[in-house]
Amino acid sequence: MTNQTLPWQAETWSQVMQMRERFPHAVLLHGPEGIGKTRFAEQLAQALLCESPLPDGHACGHCLACGWFAQYAHPDYRRVRPESLEDASAVDDAGAETAKAAKAEKGASREIRIEQIRSLANFINVSTHRSGRRVVLLYPAEALNAIAANALLKTLEEPPPATVFLMVSHNIDRLLPTIVSRCRKVPLTMPGAAQALAWLKEQGVGDGESWLAEQGGAPLSALTQSQAGSREAVETLLAHLAKPAAEAALKTADQLQKSPPAEVTAWLQRWLYDVFSVKFSGKIRYYPKHRREIDALAMRADPIKLLAVLKSMNERRAIADHPLSPKLFIEDMLLDYSTVFA
Ligand SMILES: [Zn+2]
Repeated sequence: MTNQTLPWQAETWSQVMQMRERFPHAVLLHGPEGIGKTRFAEQLAQALLCESPLPDGHACGHCLACGWFAQYAHPDYRRVRPESLEDASAVDDAGAETAKAAKAEKGASREIRIEQIRSLANFINVSTHRSGRRVVLLYPAEALNAIAANALLKTLEEPPPATVFLMVSHNIDRLLPTIVSRCRKVPLTMPGAAQALAWLKEQGVGDGESWLAEQGGAPLSALTQSQAGSREAVETLLAHLAKPAAEAALKTADQLQKSPPAEVTAWLQRWLYDVFSVKFSGKIRYYPKHRREIDALAMRADPIKLLAVLKSMNERRAIADHPLSPKLFIEDMLLDYSTVFA
């Protein structure tokens, strides 16, 4: 576990640390996906439990509490998250979690369920083991189903002593307003492009600009993507998309069959968004390097088919974790794509 605050979160870190002595019962860290909110929350959890924190408030990394924390074995710490994220050891943001979740057991729940909230009762009702404080990290908060959200609300309404709830949300509008109003809201924002690029470079990511643009500027998602997919695979797909030809779909699918189908679907989806966006507003977001090809495709695209295929891509995204045959899945998607430009 890294103890380094992400450069674009340093200021927020100092602000949060000013609350240290009288820390709120519940903190809601919110902002766009893929910028490092969960990582921030884990660092904060560790800092709150550390027994000899550094002057800037960060965990020392050496005390007994920090040792336990690193093993996810601290007796005063609980993580609550959907089962589908359970095999993800990563502490970074949703980007990383999504990629890992693809490997999770088929059928693992994507919701935070009532049993998970109920089982917190035992944790909360015993006295704390070490520093006199216990921490619950819950993410993403929008994964709480309705019953679980109501149970959590009851807990937040009568905050248990010495307990801090750290919640992370990518979409605060999807939370119960009554939960939001019980929390101290801490916004985390998308870094500027220059800062994000410099950070990606430090992480050893080549062609950071392309990865970053494709992830809408979210650096942690860009990092995950650069590690999960190969640049060649993305370029193979983009070359196909730039010159859509139904007869080439099989060959392209063959070349891409080692890439996770969920990723291929996401790449294609973003490309279609760009075609759509250029056609209707002239703006390009994800693939600025391919401006010329996308302009040409936007001219040719049949608007009704474009909308229909965009919609079908959303449906595909839902099943892309486990297609029976990745190759057939990708081929079918590419054939569908060709119909937009027929
Ligand atoms: Zn420590």
